[in-house]
Amino acid sequence: MRVLGIETSCDETGVAIYDSERGLMSHVLYSQVKMHAEFGGVVPELASRDHIRKLLPLIKEAFAKAGLKLGEVDGVAYTAGPGLVGALMVGAATARSLAFGWGVPALGVHHMEGHLLAPMLEEVPPPYPFVTLLVSGGHTMLVDVQSPGCYSILGETLDDAAGEAFDKTAKMMGLPYPGGPMLSKIACKGEVGRFKFPRPMVDRPGLDFSFSGLKTAVRLVIADHAENEVVPEQDMADIACGFQEAVVDTLAIKCRRALQQTGHKNLVIAGGVSANSRLRERLADIVKKERCQLFYPRAEFCTDNGAMIAYAGWLRMRVGQQSGYELNIKPRWPLNTLDPIQE
Ligand code: ATP
Ligand code: MG
Ligand code: FE
Repeated sequence: MRVLGIETSCDETGVAIYDSERGLMSHVLYSQVKMHAEFGGVVPELASRDHIRKLLPLIKEAFAKAGLKLGEVDGVAYTAGPGLVGALMVGAATARSLAFGWGVPALGVHHMEGHLLAPMLEEVPPPYPFVTLLVSGGHTMLVDVQSPGCYSILGETLDDAAGEAFDKTAKMMGLPYPGGPMLSKIACKGEVGRFKFPRPMVDRPGLDFSFSGLKTAVRLVIADHAENEVVPEQDMADIACGFQEAVVDTLAIKCRRALQQTGHKNLVIAGGVSANSRLRERLADIVKKERCQLFYPRAEFCTDNGAMIAYAGWLRMRVGQQSGYELNIKPRWPLNTLDPIQE
């Protein structure tokens, strides 16, 4: 079976083709980041309009790169949610129409299942069961993955997501949107331990997270070190480093707890923040101590992409799952309500 995957949930237009025999045949991506940077965040209406402009050319490109004629697929998968309503509508309407025209089924895929399954595209995929830390711009959760499609949420953020905390803190530091990756770069030049920020919620049992207080703590320190509203470069690096250590440490403590609680021997990280090298480093330490294995996607598949949607769609479509003709987008869609994927 060969599936075309379409991702348009936020500010990336991603298209890919996944095939049972040949694996990932092609994947192309267009990021709207530059357009939204001017506004300091994603502007939903602009996002939808740009998906409309870019999606069809990208689909043509994905077929060409795979060496296929347009329409040589057995199904079309699209991100049905969670995400921005207008942006999701563009992907869903396009996917649904193409599938109808080509006479093949279509399937709405859960965006976070896409992120969660992205490490399956690597040479050494994680064996089931495993614990996944999903850390992206809109979500932070620990998931017990018993088998394909069976997800129990062990804990999640009560307020900001980890990526959101990175981006909001970066904005306070005057970095351009999205500041997460740049903040992390600056943090490398900082001195570990000069600024010690709180590790929210680690002193109580459970696997939930909260990052909004941390942001406030950073804000106060920035105000304290600003000279004529400018924070000296080294202070900035030290603050960034302190912030990153606090987030990474909090995530690592909860991952360790989740491994102990479930008894699973495999830890997976996925979503934009899983590209963070300090997080990968800290989790490598943890899994060593717990005698477990760590898995993550290649950097380009940590953030939004079409490949993860093509793969998740293929996994479900090859066992006969499909969506109806209605545009069933779900801007809010709990991950633990998905159908299991049975052979
Ligand atoms: P969601 O998947 O929850 O709907 P999203 O699709 O916007 O949200 P992703 O594309 O998975 O999120 O990830 C983007 C986020 O990852 C941004 O918040 C970005 O700052 C963060 N991010 C990317 N690289 C890094 C990094 N190296 N360090 C920290 N954060 C990072
Ligand atoms: Mg994005
Ligand atoms: Fe995402």
